[in-house]
Amino acid sequence: MSDIRFDPISGHWVTIAPNRNDRPVEFVPSERVIKRLLCPFCGGNESETPASLASYDKEGNQTDHEESWLVRVVPNKYPSFSVVGGNNGTPSTANGQAPGNGLYESLSAHGVQELIIPTADHHVSLSQLTPTESLVAMYAYRDRVVAAGEEGLAHAMLFTNCRSSAGASLEHIHTQLIASPLISDAVTQRVARNKLYFQNNHQHAIHALTKWEHDHADRVVAVTENFSLICPYASRFAFQTWIVPNEGVPRFPMCSAAIMEELSILLQQQVTKLESVLDEPAYNVLFHLPPYAEMETEPWYVEIFPRLTTAAGFELGTDIWVNPVAPEMAARRLR
Ligand SMILES: [Zn+2]
Repeated sequence: MSDIRFDPISGHWVTIAPNRNDRPVEFVPSERVIKRLLCPFCGGNESETPASLASYDKEGNQTDHEESWLVRVVPNKYPSFSVVGGNNGTPSTANGQAPGNGLYESLSAHGVQELIIPTADHHVSLSQLTPTESLVAMYAYRDRVVAAGEEGLAHAMLFTNCRSSAGASLEHIHTQLIASPLISDAVTQRVARNKLYFQNNHQHAIHALTKWEHDHADRVVAVTENFSLICPYASRFAFQTWIVPNEGVPRFPMCSAAIMEELSILLQQQVTKLESVLDEPAYNVLFHLPPYAEMETEPWYVEIFPRLTTAAGFELGTDIWVNPVAPEMAARRLR
């Protein structure tokens, strides 16, 4: 059983997930070790994972035919958060904190942790998916975010870790959904900043920034009907990009099939570009969704960044990141 602990000195919440020590490749960062003989995510090896929560066919419909799936969703076998019977995401006390351990606060790690496997073939990157696999995976993202919201949880994080130095413990490309009863300080502060900006400017900051980027063009990589792909002004990482939905694009779970397809194509194109410019780097894709309670009003966006540098003492000590590549230069290369 995991718990979520609050550090009163740093202000960080930390998930203590001791069962993750059972993971076969924990603390062994070598790519070699990750190529396992039997990949539990490949088609035909379904018995190596817990029973699926959902399977999709190539039309994007949910199917009961386990042997002919295109995209499959399974619970994480080694979760940091999990739904525990009878207390689905309900914090231990009314104020969200457990009775405590002396000076310390903690929260039971109730939540949802799922893996979305977007292909039955042993591919290692989102760029290798067929357009249909990539699109149907988007449908699965949407459905699973909605389903986790129905568990009464506070916030969902949808993310892909590609290759071991981005945190992947299995090589076969997959996306994770972690929905928890906790809203981190980073998300709380992002929402608070958005709200303040909106009060003062009657517009979301991310839309104002995107318009400014369009007017100046230095950091714009690509523009489609409903999205802009930019390198953010204060990129923390080299070649960091954001896919920003235009004003008026619905909240993520309400996007039409056409908008999902546009996002899916743009995301694959961007990953393909990163892999060609940077020689197949490890990368992360993060869907920054608002807390469920703010889903109607707060904006969402997708962030992609390659893992070219690791956090060192200065970054870890100050949370100020040193980025060796100017975002204007990165945008030029990516265009
Ligand atoms: Zn595989």
